[in-house]
Amino acid sequence: MALPLPIPPCSKRDGLTGLGCEHFEYASTMANTLMAPVKTEKQILEHSMSEDDPNANTQLSSEVFTQPRWGPRHRGAQELAELYSPGKRLQEWVCVVVCCTLCVCAGLLMARHIRADASLLFAAVAGVLTADFASGVVHWAADTWGTVDLPLIGKNFLRPFREHHIDPTSITRHDFIETNGDNFAITIPVLARIVWQLTTYDDMSIDKQFHSIAYWYLCCIFVAMTNQIHKWSHTYFGLPAWVVYLQEWHVVLPRRHHRIHHVAPHETYFCITTGWLNWPLEKLRFWVILETIIEALTGCKPRADDMKWAQKRS
Ligand SMILES: [Zn+2]
Ligand SMILES: [Zn+2]
Repeated sequence: MALPLPIPPCSKRDGLTGLGCEHFEYASTMANTLMAPVKTEKQILEHSMSEDDPNANTQLSSEVFTQPRWGPRHRGAQELAELYSPGKRLQEWVCVVVCCTLCVCAGLLMARHIRADASLLFAAVAGVLTADFASGVVHWAADTWGTVDLPLIGKNFLRPFREHHIDPTSITRHDFIETNGDNFAITIPVLARIVWQLTTYDDMSIDKQFHSIAYWYLCCIFVAMTNQIHKWSHTYFGLPAWVVYLQEWHVVLPRRHHRIHHVAPHETYFCITTGWLNWPLEKLRFWVILETIIEALTGCKPRADDMKWAQKRS
């Protein structure tokens, strides 16, 4: 079978509807820029931990006899893991119980107002996108700024982010409470407001505002599920088939997709609910622009504390 003739890269198309030579080259450069991989295979292999390779078959020979750059044997990871306190554990338990109670109450109160229509679907999609964006902003802020020494938030909130970069598999050893406590905590004020609205407003007001209530409720559900989805994206063995199916169809954060964030210095792909916004935000240079503005205003270097922990080797 004869192959079609290749189109020369700069063939003349000067008709009214055709592309001019310089336009064609511009479009082609744009396409190449947009389609270029955010991280190459080589960068992924050399600058992130091979979580899917427990026997370290792909470990670089230069690393075998040196201090580990990642994993549970890393000195910084061990120090950070030791900072997980009983007080923090108690806070996580309380947040999980309060969040689940509010979630069930809000769901039951909403049930009699539900009308399955296109705007409910729109509210659901908007809720997922908001949760994905919020996961990116919170993750970026915690990864990039502040230190573990900061009072209150340092050990309780920033510590797990530092630990996660030097020992990404530690999340797979955390139980349900440690994995989900902080995300459940974030949703409590919004869920409490929804329950308050559903118990104090009359039926007409609830029906009028139902789509807004449904949007916030679904957003809370996705925010609450985010770190569980994130944990699945680090789990290479024993995942239920339905989770793998959702990952493969990119309904939730896929493993391969999240690996891009874990390429040192961890400066992109911060969204971890579905990851749908990672590519557009990267192409818009959203995080770089934010970091440049904040650095110019405050003089703080992005990821300085993260680097400090990553370099703790002895
Ligand atoms: Zn991170
Ligand atoms: Zn991760």
